[in-house]
Amino acid sequence: MGNNVCPFCGSDKCISRIINESYTYFECSGPNNGAYIGAYIGNTVLESDPATQRKLFNLIYEYVLNKPMCGDQNWRFFYQTDYKLNEQDEEYYVNLADIPYPSSLSEKADRVLINLYKLFPEYSDEIINAYTPFRAVFSNSEEEDNWLGFLSILCDLGYLKETNRETYKISSKGLQRIEELSRDGNTLIQGFIAMSFDKELTYIAEAIKTAIKESNYFPMIINEKEHNNQIVPEIMHEIDNSRFLVMDVTKQNFGAYYEAGYALGKGKQVIVCCKKEVFDNSESKPHFDIAQKSIVVWNDEKDLVEKLKKRIRATVK
Ligand SMILES: [Zn+2]
Repeated sequence: MGNNVCPFCGSDKCISRIINESYTYFECSGPNNGAYIGAYIGNTVLESDPATQRKLFNLIYEYVLNKPMCGDQNWRFFYQTDYKLNEQDEEYYVNLADIPYPSSLSEKADRVLINLYKLFPEYSDEIINAYTPFRAVFSNSEEEDNWLGFLSILCDLGYLKETNRETYKISSKGLQRIEELSRDGNTLIQGFIAMSFDKELTYIAEAIKTAIKESNYFPMIINEKEHNNQIVPEIMHEIDNSRFLVMDVTKQNFGAYYEAGYALGKGKQVIVCCKKEVFDNSESKPHFDIAQKSIVVWNDEKDLVEKLKKRIRATVK
């Protein structure tokens, strides 16, 4: 056990374990929407000078946001300027020296904006200091002032708006910028979730979000209050901006069918999911229009995550 500063949240309370002379293992449940993160951090990172270490921690954090960690991936981050990863290296080795640190203000602004969007993907999300997302903004110091300062620069650029004292939201200009950036290289990075918004179905939404995140896409779900069972321009816009759509029909929902139809019309991949006990019941069986489509039939949340990840891998190009 050590009391190294956690590379993910900056706290010294998170678990760290020295594995060998090369790596220390960190376990953090602080940032990243409360999702658990575990990763091996090389001593080449931990023993670098404080300024370099902060930069490397920021890069690690950004990497985690891009490729959400599953417990079994065992990512190993190290820093070696004279070393290029080669074929013999395991796929989870990451040489931080290969990842460019943002050099100009505009590059930094773009990357920070994307990072914040990944941390706070929903319209209703407010960017707050709840789980120290300062690493996502490439903050040069652990001081709160520093990252809040950068957020106010993003406000000046029009990407964020201050909704309250020290709370922010991504502005429509910010969302447009994210869209431009995510279209670079023709890669849409979002997966849209269409389903009923019943409170008791939250666990389904969470499982779908997890599967989408772990497939390296951003889950997009639009809150009920903005939804109201009709397809509004905002929803169309978000579907346009998505690579694929996941619909769960465990509970029938008119809006979800409409959204899926819209997505199909736009040539998007639509993945339909349904809980097994509902699917097996002839009375509650999903609507006939989608009955021929091969449906992901799931038993429980864990099963849903695993099957959906497989389906996304197999069908989303
Ligand atoms: Zn932590």
